[in-house]
Amino acid sequence: MKKGGTNIYCPGCKSFTVCRAIPPTRTGKPKAQRWHRTDHEDISWFRRGRECLSCGHLFLSAEVDEAFIEELARACTHKIANCPAIAADVRFAPESGH
Ligand SMILES: [Zn+2]
Repeated sequence: MKKGGTNIYCPGCKSFTVCRAIPPTRTGKPKAQRWHRTDHEDISWFRRGRECLSCGHLFLSAEVDEAFIEELARACTHKIANCPAIAADVRFAPESGH
């Protein structure tokens, strides 16, 4: 396997750090890399297994059209605004100096 890695966001470190590509099977998932939701045919992505070289966290990343992230953020905002139960669970980062 190729050494090195790419500086990407690690959910373990919660920061950008060097993570190398690994087979998705190492995270216990099937090795297929091209996926789409059967309940949302327009949602497709390319899956990669990742290993953080700082904390050792194994995770899956999904490459999507960046516009999809905007759509996701809008959907989350909409859902929070319309569902008090979800809003109660959301923790916002504290404002600085507060
Ligand atoms: Zn990490």
